[in-house]
Amino acid sequence: MRILSGEEAQKAVRYIEDAATAAAYASCFRSKCGSVIVKNDQIIGKGYNAPPLDVKLEYCLKDSLPLNFKSDKTCCMHAEQRAIMDALQHHPDKLPGSRLYFIRLDEQGQKKKSGDPYCTICSKFSLDAGIGEFVLWREEGLCVYDTVEYNELSFKFRG
Ligand SMILES: [Zn+2]
Ligand SMILES: [Zn+2]
Repeated sequence: MRILSGEEAQKAVRYIEDAATAAAYASCFRSKCGSVIVKNDQIIGKGYNAPPLDVKLEYCLKDSLPLNFKSDKTCCMHAEQRAIMDALQHHPDKLPGSRLYFIRLDEQGQKKKSGDPYCTICSKFSLDAGIGEFVLWREEGLCVYDTVEYNELSFKFRG
């Protein structure tokens, strides 16, 4: 992981803003997240979290699942998954070596700093799709991870 600086950081701030704009569309009761994927200064995919097909749920699925439920408990497609699918549909040739930016909004719709990577669903999906780097806004600043590193860290995470 390395902290972005200079022009690279300035660009990243703008892409994180774009991800925040996407996050505002999230229809989840629990969290609002957004993601954009960038290759050569072009946004090639965007996504926000929402239940599959954007179907509006009356309640959060997570609350009705038993403790021993085995798979991912979130009701939603994750923002990163959506951004990757968007890029696969519209710019599949540009995915290899691209950079994914992720942001989460708080209850007031303000950008929230990320902690350590933990979502192996998205880390695996990103790696498999050929995304080269992953950017999070953290306490230290805007941090870029190699996607291989991001995936390894996600598997090491213990909540
Ligand atoms: Zn949800
Ligand atoms: Zn995820």
